Amino acid sequence: ITLAMILSMSIIGPASWFTVAVNDFKSIQYAIGDVNEILDMPELPEAEEPVKLRGYDIQIQDISFAYNDKHGDVLQEISLTIPQGSFTALVGPSGSGKSTVARLIARFWDVSKGYISIGGEDIRRIPFSQLSEAVSFVSQENFLFNCSLMENIRLGNPAASDEEVFAAGKAACCDEFIGRFEKGWNTTAGEAGGRLSGGERQRIAIARAILKNAPIVILDEATAFTDPENEAQLQASIAALTEGKTLLVIAHRLSTIKEADNIIVLKDGRVEAQGKQQELLNTCSLYKEMWKSHIGAKNWSASSAGREELY
Ligand code: ADP
Ligand code: MG
Repeated sequence: ITLAMILSMSIIGPASWFTVAVNDFKSIQYAIGDVNEILDMPELPEAEEPVKLRGYDIQIQDISFAYNDKHGDVLQEISLTIPQGSFTALVGPSGSGKSTVARLIARFWDVSKGYISIGGEDIRRIPFSQLSEAVSFVSQENFLFNCSLMENIRLGNPAASDEEVFAAGKAACCDEFIGRFEKGWNTTAGEAGGRLSGGERQRIAIARAILKNAPIVILDEATAFTDPENEAQLQASIAALTEGKTLLVIAHRLSTIKEADNIIVLKDGRVEAQGKQQELLNTCSLYKEMWKSHIGAKNWSASSAGREELY
């Protein structure tokens, strides 16, 4: 695989976004990350003609989806509306289908029933290059290629100047940890290797997406990073990424999402409830249980008088 091919991928996305590269994918030296999931992905039929999108609303209409026949549908007739410019959060127990919804919007796979549209167009009618321009997908996996940290960020926009890469890295709070390396921004991901924490890798991925500046941002948060300093920096970098965008966040840390315009609770591949934080605390026992375990049962009972800490 050539550097030009890596750069043409623009940002890590579904295999179909860079079908030319996918066969060579195995040969890429990954410093970090697990490529199996990408290699499993099918090549999907591609629309040829660019379409005119009317804005960046996302509509999910009665979709069902199965990864394979053996395990059956993991999503069952889900319908959701994600308005342009809104902040929508997706929560639910592990295995409830959150990441699957995110990946289907980015068209890693095609739905078996129903449709997903962006700006009024079924995503199957949107060419991959156009879909890729519309959507930044920051996945749980956070692939780093074994080129420099600088080039890893530049994947978001190959045409970006060095200054723009630095600015994106700074906005994603990467400059401080990159500065710890002797070679700084020229450190390769391999050299950085195990010295990058999960949160730092995620911030590199967020910097990429900041540089890409797509109107829709899908963020599948990696598993909880408990270290509070990292938490604050992650929050700051997410804020820089998502300003003015249509935003879908799959949150494992509920503190991320209490400001969401709409919180969707998934359970066993179905929508259990949706609404704002306060409504869900009042009406959805599953959400309430998740909050209790998030803040700790002790704080929960102690806060019945001063509940504002929950909101
Ligand atoms: P969540 O993100 O909410 O934890 P996922 O969307 O990852 O849930 O998974 C939903 C269901 O689909 C789970 O039962 C999971 O085991 C299954 N699943 C996820 N990814 C794959 C895959 N690549 N192949 C087959 N089954 C999968
Ligand atoms: Mg997941």
